[in-house]
Amino acid sequence: MRYYSTRNRAKYVTASETILKGLAPDGGLFVPAGKLKAYPGSNLPAGRYQEIAVEILTRFLGDFSPSEIEFAVSSAYSPDTFDHRAVAPLISLSEQIYVLELWHGPTSAFKDIALQILPHLLTIAAQKSGEDREIVILTATSGDTGKSALEGFRDVPGVKIFVYFPEKGVSEIQKLQMITQEGGNVNVIAVRGNFDDTQSGVKQIFNDRYMNSQLKEAGYRLTSANSINWGRLLPQIVYYFSAYRQLISQGAIKEGEKVNFVVPTGNFGNILAGYYAGRLGLPVNRFICAANRNNVLSDFINSGLYDKRRTLYNSHSPSMDILVSSNLERLLFELTGHDSERIKAWMNQLTEEGHYRVDRETLATLHKSFWSDYADDGETLQAIAGTYSEKKYLVDPHTAVGINVLDKYLKREKDPHLSVVLSTASPYKFTGSTIRALFKNSPFQDSSELELIKILARETEIPVPDNLAALENKPALHRQVINPADMPDHLRNTLLEDNS
Ligand SMILES: *Cc1c(COP(=O)(O)O)cnc(C)c1O
Repeated sequence: MRYYSTRNRAKYVTASETILKGLAPDGGLFVPAGKLKAYPGSNLPAGRYQEIAVEILTRFLGDFSPSEIEFAVSSAYSPDTFDHRAVAPLISLSEQIYVLELWHGPTSAFKDIALQILPHLLTIAAQKSGEDREIVILTATSGDTGKSALEGFRDVPGVKIFVYFPEKGVSEIQKLQMITQEGGNVNVIAVRGNFDDTQSGVKQIFNDRYMNSQLKEAGYRLTSANSINWGRLLPQIVYYFSAYRQLISQGAIKEGEKVNFVVPTGNFGNILAGYYAGRLGLPVNRFICAANRNNVLSDFINSGLYDKRRTLYNSHSPSMDILVSSNLERLLFELTGHDSERIKAWMNQLTEEGHYRVDRETLATLHKSFWSDYADDGETLQAIAGTYSEKKYLVDPHTAVGINVLDKYLKREKDPHLSVVLSTASPYKFTGSTIRALFKNSPFQDSSELELIKILARETEIPVPDNLAALENKPALHRQVINPADMPDHLRNTLLEDNS
């Protein structure tokens, strides 16, 4: 299968170039070129998680050999990396509602599923295209991506990774996870500023031609592990099929029966992977896009108007605090039958004026597969408390947004289909909010988040993931704090010193 940009259908690239480049040079996103062929009838991929992964990846990675794909899959999804045999186990909350736990990887967030395999895909892709320079991954993070990328890329030969996080913009646990990161090729840097300042710093580095050519001469190639990379999206298609297989083996549905997927959404990567699974023939009734108070996506899905001219709030589900959902561009490209001219016009208008409105036909196509609403902070905490008291099942605030929005959907639509809520983080990753939801009048408000982990474990008797339990004994290895304006010089000096 070949790929092209959402903004230019004339130029084809291979799968490995797509993964190596990340973003298309014209500013668009790479997507599979031409029509996706669905699996016929009930011939959907089956077997263990790893077998489904090999099957799906083989379809999309045309220039990878079978042994390369098998190697990447078995390294990424092994008992050493995921603490559950199923990789992404499916839990029943009721006959009609299931939860897909995507957080059994090394950092307890769903981003591990993609970021455990991306380093393998990227290094194989680099070999194929004869890239002999060292790859330098730059990542600005609001929390989960940074740690997940560090774990994925630590000690990968031929790769260095730099993670920048806003000094005061991540949770205490997320910060501890990052500053205690081990590995000979990792750099973790706190930036004085917010997430936007941090991200602008990284963009400035990518756009600095002089510096890029200097680094090129010194033997480095800069790239990003951002969620717009096709290599991050592709591995996420797998768990939709795996969830469906688990529903069948648990006797919840019959082969061919349609189900809903409820996805707590930020950058639109996770839910878009589901859409591609649907295009491959997975029987899906609806994708329910669950947003938080930053409800730019639910407004868009309901009205057809995308409008980012609004305040960005800090919510209890910080990994969804976002106003520009980059991957939506890919969905619009698919919904318009690959109309790159319309996509370019909308995206330019978004950049220049902060908004765009899609035409009525596109909106009608969108509504065939998507439904959306949002949960505010109060509703999010209520969903955590309610699910725990009714089902004895503890969810993190992102998953809670999904549970609340599903509740709204079922009340309004009276849909008889079974629903699967994607659970994107362990509740122990966002202990502050979880404890606040469970214990009114915040009796533990003076405790540190590390103490809160122990309190939550004591009160709920739910086991703490090993990586989070180990945090309190790990030394801080990364203590640098820099100004956003100094990011380019800091990177250049670190790399050129290493090299001399
Ligand atoms: C990144 C993230 C999300 C949002 O996923 P998208 O693919 O950006 O829509 C939701 N929940 C958690 C815990 C995350 O880390």
